[in-house]
Amino acid sequence: MNKFSWYEAKSVEEALQQVNSTVSEQLYEHSDNASVFKSGGIDVFDWVKEGLLKPQKIINIRNIPGLDKIGYDPKNGLSIGSNVTLAEIASNPEIKTNYLALHQAVNHAATPQLRNMSTLGGNIAQRNRCWYFRSADHDCFRKGGDRCFARHSETGENENHAIIDNGSCVSVHASSISTALMAFNASVVIVNSEGEKKEVRMDDFFVTAGEDIAMENVLKAKEIITEIIIPAPSKNTKSAYIKQVARESYDWSLGDVAVVLEVSGDTCRSASIVLGAAAPVPYRSIEAQQAIAKKTINSENAMAAAEAAMSKARPLAKNGYKVPLFIATIKQAILEIS
Ligand SMILES: Cc1cc2nc3c(=O)[nH]c(=O)nc-3n(C[C@H](O)[C@H](O)[C@H](O)COP(=O)(O)OP(=O)(O)OC[C@H]3O[C@@H](n4cnc5c(N)ncnc54)[C@H](O)[C@@H]3O)c2cc1C
Repeated sequence: MNKFSWYEAKSVEEALQQVNSTVSEQLYEHSDNASVFKSGGIDVFDWVKEGLLKPQKIINIRNIPGLDKIGYDPKNGLSIGSNVTLAEIASNPEIKTNYLALHQAVNHAATPQLRNMSTLGGNIAQRNRCWYFRSADHDCFRKGGDRCFARHSETGENENHAIIDNGSCVSVHASSISTALMAFNASVVIVNSEGEKKEVRMDDFFVTAGEDIAMENVLKAKEIITEIIIPAPSKNTKSAYIKQVARESYDWSLGDVAVVLEVSGDTCRSASIVLGAAAPVPYRSIEAQQAIAKKTINSENAMAAAEAAMSKARPLAKNGYKVPLFIATIKQAILEIS
């Protein structure tokens, strides 16, 4: 581990002032002179301990006052400060009542110990868990190298990887919570060093490898997430979230699904369906949404929506199992709402 200085930020403005002008944004491999924000520190310290990130300065934003609040009102919806922990979200009764799929997603993420440490801001900004990306011995596309090791049809270990939009990088995004946030049409509130505030829809927050191979989200070096906001659901909104894992105790997602439906009796009026661990970023399935909208919620229509979601799937050599896994999971999530 390299030596670094530690800055204890007391405000967002102060934290942003501490960012080095030489910071190379999210290009970890080349970030020896960079500063990095640390919130819960789960992901940041993984990178530092592996020697993949050698920051000059760690800016601790975890104790900035005001970023640790949850607010809900039935008219304006939900606001979750970026430093709210996953454990605090999991135990919030208003989130469980009004945003069930988010409650379920948070409860299935990581372990109780990790949920006590992890913050929502850090969760959505964490980097992917592809073992080649996380290995100092593999200089993959995302780290400035010339190939995607996982993609290789004979030597690539790609069983956990993407089946949709798997072009130059086939990793999947690590935040299973983002699957539910996107399904609820959440937005990310970001503040920059000029004090300007913007709201970015979760649908626009993540960056595909085709757009920029070095980035996984739109955050710039001198920007901080301050809160995540979710509109108030209508009275007739119902939701469900299911995550499939290899080990039941705790594990990263092999495939997770969030379904948010506006219903009228047993009919789906409108649908928001998002898949996690299917593509390099959380994936909104327009095909599934269209297939179930205005239809009776029953087994046949749920199956049709699930199959429509997989119409663009192009599995790699070792992850063909994800297609039937997603079909079964999407169908089950829709039927849980009926
Ligand atoms: C074994 C294990 C299993 C896990 N399983 C899951 C899972 O199933 N699902 C899931 O969703 N997650 C999972 N996680 C992720 C974990 O829960 C944390 O959410 C995540 O590692 C980072 O959260 P953090 O608060 O510690 O962020 P940090 O490590 O502090 O930061 C992560 C990144 O976000 C940036 N950052 C942090 N806060 C901000 C901010 N406010 N503004 C701008 N940038 C910011 C940091 O600079 C850094 O780049 C798992 C982690 C582990 C180790």
